[in-house]
Amino acid sequence: MIKDNLIKVQLRISQVNHTQSVTLVAVSKTRSVYELQQAIDVGQQHFAENYLQEALIKINHLKGQNLIWHFIGPIQSNKTLKIAKNFDWVHSIGRLKIAQRLNDQRPKNLPKLKVLLQINIDNEPTKSGVLVGQIDELITHFESLKNLTLRGFMCVPNPFSSAQSFSRMENIIKQYSNLDVLSMGMSHDLELAIENGATSVRIGADIFGKRT
Ligand SMILES: *Cc1c(COP(=O)(O)O)cnc(C)c1O
Repeated sequence: MIKDNLIKVQLRISQVNHTQSVTLVAVSKTRSVYELQQAIDVGQQHFAENYLQEALIKINHLKGQNLIWHFIGPIQSNKTLKIAKNFDWVHSIGRLKIAQRLNDQRPKNLPKLKVLLQINIDNEPTKSGVLVGQIDELITHFESLKNLTLRGFMCVPNPFSSAQSFSRMENIIKQYSNLDVLSMGMSHDLELAIENGATSVRIGADIFGKRT
């Protein structure tokens, strides 16, 4: 049951030795409104979606329940307007062009959009994201994007070396005193991520069951 699964994940988080506060973000891609409501009913507030169209349906259905929506999927230019209008957080910024569009399209009546750079921490050619060597240059441009707040980094490391990758991420973010969010750790490696400084873990399968 989703309720019991959530309690188990919360317990796993609390059992890791850590001093930072950790936000549990429920990754709800492919899950129904009904499944999300079960998590909401036991207090889950943060949800993450990868695909815009299905996300918009859920956001609309679940309006008025004080939820916080995170976009974590790949972003094409033609998706930025609806992301800017409907989400609170975007974890998957990999290009300046996307950040610029989100900034320009963020409605003025909403708070600033909170964003993270997705870091290609293992330099994998098949993965999108910012290379470590590009971070410094990219960050300088966020100063002028007044409708965004750059809060930190997100990564999805290669599972064969995730301990080293998480540890590198922790060292990198320490170099930026104004960045306070490290989004890393999924169902199978949340403990390792938290030990290495994760402040947001993105959990799907261990809350909602295996995706088919
Ligand atoms: C699907 C997904 C997750 C959740 O993964 P689980 O193994 O189901 O916990 C986390 N982050 C991203 C970017 C995802 O696409």
